[in-house]
Amino acid sequence: MKAMFEHLQRATLATTPTPLEQGPVIPGGARLWVKRDDLTGLGGGGNKARKLEFLCGDALAVGSRALVTVGAAQSNHCRMTAAAGARLGMEVHLVLSGDEPDVATGNQLLSMLFGAQLHFTGAAQSHWGELEIARELLTGELSGAGLAPYSIPIGGSTAVGALGYAAAFIELLDQFDVAGIEPSTVVFTSSSGGTHAGLLAGRAAASAAGRTVPGIVAIGVAKGVNIGLPNIADLANQTLDLMALTDVRIDPVDVEVDKRWIGGDYAVPTTAGDNAVRWAAANGGWLCDRTYSGKGLSGALGLAEEGRFADEDIVFIHTGGWPALFSTDGIPA
Ligand SMILES: *Cc1c(COP(=O)(O)O)cnc(C)c1O
Repeated sequence: MKAMFEHLQRATLATTPTPLEQGPVIPGGARLWVKRDDLTGLGGGGNKARKLEFLCGDALAVGSRALVTVGAAQSNHCRMTAAAGARLGMEVHLVLSGDEPDVATGNQLLSMLFGAQLHFTGAAQSHWGELEIARELLTGELSGAGLAPYSIPIGGSTAVGALGYAAAFIELLDQFDVAGIEPSTVVFTSSSGGTHAGLLAGRAAASAAGRTVPGIVAIGVAKGVNIGLPNIADLANQTLDLMALTDVRIDPVDVEVDKRWIGGDYAVPTTAGDNAVRWAAANGGWLCDRTYSGKGLSGALGLAEEGRFADEDIVFIHTGGWPALFSTDGIPA
């Protein structure tokens, strides 16, 4: 099924396949497997490396010399885009929420090390619309300066970016065969929806090819940017179009976003999320962050406690995010 991606432009940026590790039995008796997409390699790793392979492949194909993207102050996507630019010899501009700090920490520190130029908008943390307008303005300025910038929306969640997770879904199926398992469900952390759309596209493609496929459950960690369900189906269908599978379509009933684990708002820690960060570190040596993978894992464990998974194998895709752990003063006990 890898042939489904062969006609597409792709820059080599991620170290794949990432490991599929067996974890402990979780409440309710399900066997947890962790797909280590925190280990994609690029600039500290995380899910954006897979999207950036296709986004940067496209950017190079159209002759761009600079990358522009946008995110929250501690954006992992911006940090990995900065690393991609360093690898490919492209100038990188990052539009960020908040003001310039006295001392850069976490993802901002790493983005600066990768040589990116950081543009602070002063926007509030999750004012995504305001951030996107700032990205468009900056893109216009750089175009005027003759840089032919390739401008990437929040989270890299275009159909081109989502291709990375369609390919990741096929990668997972191969690993299920090797491990001799048939998991019932894949759970992961979702915000801008590109990872979700890509997984759905990969699942639909594999199902159309006659494979038995697991269900997909997204744990939402952002309001607003967590584009509505019909839009995720649309994005997944556009991804299938790029894969030249125009007759395979997403069934909207397969789009499930569980929004109960966000807490107050995007990037506002929750007790359940912090407990999941500690649980992951103590039970598997996995580093999760408080904004994304910790809340996502709290959703997976919470669903297990509710009895959603019985005597089943389930997969949690660890989407990364650990550099943000070093942007906080600690996690309250
Ligand atoms: C971006 C990100 C996500 C969410 O991915 P989307 O495709 O934007 O939904 C999850 N976890 C981490 C660590 C991320 O950086």
